[in-house]
Amino acid sequence: MFSFPELVIRLDKIRENAKKVAGVCSERGIAVWGVTKGLSGNVEVAKAMLEGGCTGIADSRMKNIVEMKESGINGPFMLLRLPMLSELDLVARYVDITLISMKETIFLLEEACKKAKRKCEAIVMVDVGDLREGIWPDEAEDIGMAFRECEFLKFAGVGTNLGCLSGVIPTRENLSMLVETGKKIADVAGSSLKYVSGGGTSSLKLVEDGLMPSEVNQLRIGEAILLGTDVTRNREIPYLSNDAIEVRAEIIECRRKPTKPIGEIGADAFGNVPHFEDKGIRLRAIAAIGRQDIRLEGLTVLDSGLEIIGASSDHLTMDAEGAKHRLKVGDIVRFRPDYGAMLAASTSRYVRVRIV
Ligand SMILES: *Cc1c(COP(=O)(O)O)cnc(C)c1O
Repeated sequence: MFSFPELVIRLDKIRENAKKVAGVCSERGIAVWGVTKGLSGNVEVAKAMLEGGCTGIADSRMKNIVEMKESGINGPFMLLRLPMLSELDLVARYVDITLISMKETIFLLEEACKKAKRKCEAIVMVDVGDLREGIWPDEAEDIGMAFRECEFLKFAGVGTNLGCLSGVIPTRENLSMLVETGKKIADVAGSSLKYVSGGGTSSLKLVEDGLMPSEVNQLRIGEAILLGTDVTRNREIPYLSNDAIEVRAEIIECRRKPTKPIGEIGADAFGNVPHFEDKGIRLRAIAAIGRQDIRLEGLTVLDSGLEIIGASSDHLTMDAEGAKHRLKVGDIVRFRPDYGAMLAASTSRYVRVRIV
């Protein structure tokens, strides 16, 4: 029925990538949690990550965690986004480890866990410079005190997030600050420092180079396993496959047209005023996919000779003049998505997810 656009997921490549990442990390005593949020908590993907050697599954959305667990994935599950107060009952019932940073959330989650009669571990997020979530290192004592009053929610470690918001690169220095803060909290809380969670894909390079502080024993990895890339460091990870995920769309028009629009140029459908270079008459193709399905800037065409011109909500136009064989209506074109485009495609209800 509805075949295209589609998001093709190759499970064997995801399993293999997970295995390689877990291998590189386990040599340094680091456990890898597979992050499924980039594919909306896809159950098959979670299974492949666990089969590949991931210690557990981490996701930012409770909805994904609940669905994975109800589908028979045993986890363990980690909640990657600081819990909303409105979801604490779900966190208490479904999550094994949650990231956390606010005292009021700690106390209310303790209540929810008590009610659910279930224990939950907490990893306190520490902001070491990227300015997204996390306590400031000088709050260590205050947070440690909060956990002294908890019985069901146990302080189990510290974590940090780098790269994602401000692009701050993980280094031995900022991760050492994480370790120090963790030791302080553990000391005050009277607990042991079970986990030091040193970030996501952008921290992998430190492991590869042997520069990761030895106390770091956990990473939460999504991008590397799914796409084989590390966008923060602008690299393809050499030992991983970068073709586990593909977007495919169908051509609905193909004809020769001028390259410079005719008429006065105003703003496009998204408020940008486009600029065009006159390259004469060229073959132009339209694929039935648009901004409602993908993030245009994050797509790379895999078929040689095709070049993306632009996209509106439902149409993606390409210059097809250089294509090896002449493109025609009904042809399928293939794209490699970056993390943002993959996230958008897996979230769009118009894109069919096909597992191979
Ligand atoms: C998304 C996310 C990750 C995974 O990041 P990748 O770059 O995909 O490896 C790790 N930690 C947190 C808190 C996240 O939100």
